[in-house]
Amino acid sequence: MIKLDISMALFFYLFFSVVFILIAWSFFDLGTKLKTFSSDERYIWHCSICAHTYVDSKGEEISTCPRCGSYNQKKKAESASVKV
Ligand SMILES: [Zn+2]
Repeated sequence: MIKLDISMALFFYLFFSVVFILIAWSFFDLGTKLKTFSSDERYIWHCSICAHTYVDSKGEEISTCPRCGSYNQKKKAESASVKV
């Protein structure tokens, strides 16, 4: 039997746990979240009154600007804003 004191056993347990978590994280999740965030341009709104760029994840036709409170339409050609 291999003689191992408690501190060395704890070190090996923590070391291999961290290595396994890092490998699993980089294999499954690291690249996918960055790609999904950059490809969701329909959730990015640009206010035509105060020129504030913000994220509204509802994806509706009209969104409210969190800074100035004006309504913004989704179509860029008819980006008319109505001040409340
Ligand atoms: Zn605004």
